[in-house]
Amino acid sequence: MDNDIEEVLYDQASIQQAAQRLGKQITEDYAGERPLFLSVLKGAYLWTADLIREVDLYAELEFIKISSYHGGVASTDEITLVTDIRSDVQNRDVIILEDIVDTGQSLLFMKDLLAKRGARSIKVATLLDKKEGRKVEVTADYIGFDVRNQFVVGYGLDYKDFYRNLPYVGILKKEVYTK
Ligand code: 5GP
Ligand code: MG
Ligand code: MG
Repeated sequence: MDNDIEEVLYDQASIQQAAQRLGKQITEDYAGERPLFLSVLKGAYLWTADLIREVDLYAELEFIKISSYHGGVASTDEITLVTDIRSDVQNRDVIILEDIVDTGQSLLFMKDLLAKRGARSIKVATLLDKKEGRKVEVTADYIGFDVRNQFVVGYGLDYKDFYRNLPYVGILKKEVYTK
């Protein structure tokens, strides 16, 4: 697998540091509250595990599964809700946990959904933010790292469902997806 990687961007230690930094910030910002963390599967599973352990609050954790990529390297405009949550978000302070925000369409989809369901507040903590990729106006509140407009894999992020288990985030060699 390592041979398919052009360049390692963030190793486990730097991701852990980002989790500590943001976990501390969230702990301060939500002092006395009981936020609901909403992790977006599958990409955010490792980031969720790291970040949530740095949060010193009574926190609830739920998982939602949406699909936007359909296996390729470019986002599609159609977002589908694959697995919904069961808990009620009415009047809850929700923190969406994402692996990466690219076009912003998935995030907007989720924010709209949560707003419709009556969430009290909605914030976003993402491992990576690819701001150059935005097609819709949406911002993340807690950002691990800003990345350039290139296709990255590892640490939860996939290409055709592989590479999620790489212990770092790296740039996938173009030849892997152009051949
Ligand atoms: P958006 O809706 O913001 O375009 O895309 C969100 C989802 O697309 C992310 O949660 C992620 O699953 C996928 N995605 C966007 N950019 C990348 C990337 O560079 N690498 C990988 N592996 N997935 C990405
Ligand atoms: Mg995602
Ligand atoms: Mg994917």
